[in-house]
Amino acid sequence: MRVLAIAAHPDDIEWLCGGTLALCAQRGDEIFIAIATNGNVGSGEPGANKDEIARIRHEEAKTSAAVIGAKVIWMDFDDEFLFDDRPTRERFIDAIREARPDIMFVLSENDYHPDHRLAGSIARDCRIPVSVPLVQTKLPETPIPTTFIMDTIMGKGFEPEFYVDVTSVMEIKDKMLSMHVSQVAWMEHLYSVEFSDNMYIQARFRGAQAGFKYSEGFKLLHDWPSTGGYELLPTGKK
Ligand SMILES: [Zn+2]
Repeated sequence: MRVLAIAAHPDDIEWLCGGTLALCAQRGDEIFIAIATNGNVGSGEPGANKDEIARIRHEEAKTSAAVIGAKVIWMDFDDEFLFDDRPTRERFIDAIREARPDIMFVLSENDYHPDHRLAGSIARDCRIPVSVPLVQTKLPETPIPTTFIMDTIMGKGFEPEFYVDVTSVMEIKDKMLSMHVSQVAWMEHLYSVEFSDNMYIQARFRGAQAGFKYSEGFKLLHDWPSTGGYELLPTGKK
């Protein structure tokens, strides 16, 4: 199968579905990680240069993706300024058309950050247009993907319907997250959050809900026209 996860920022995917992507890679799927913004304000260093920050974050994203052999699709919008307009939708449509996914993971429209909410809603709203030949972008049409909504950061306001057992790949998930070296100090500074520790807390909590040691939670996008279901995900339970 072909699998696409769409992030707002470099590092979202590792936290919210890195384990599931690692399991998909282990079963032989082809993995794509599309990242909407370039993370170019993700530093508190005095005199930091936004182009240089974006370059570093692109490298970190590629290094993380390489851990599971995934390809990064870099959309390169400015961090904190994602908007739902025609050029953005066309770029999202091409990201999906490039990956030609059977299954697609999108951010929750309930998540804490406006870039997350918009990346989630734009990806969701591009689900059908990607399949329409007369929606003409750079790439040709692709079938409507089965779409799953990722958990929110720290699970706020999100009730999973399906729990993937990521216990066997937690080290891989943590390794991917740890490749975002520039973000460890920044997360501490901005949110007083220890990156890896918080990711483990969420995976442990979702795991405890499902009877696994560690888990990632998802909801199927119950939209029309109906496509596949939870049988497309790696090992888990409802
Ligand atoms: Zn983010």
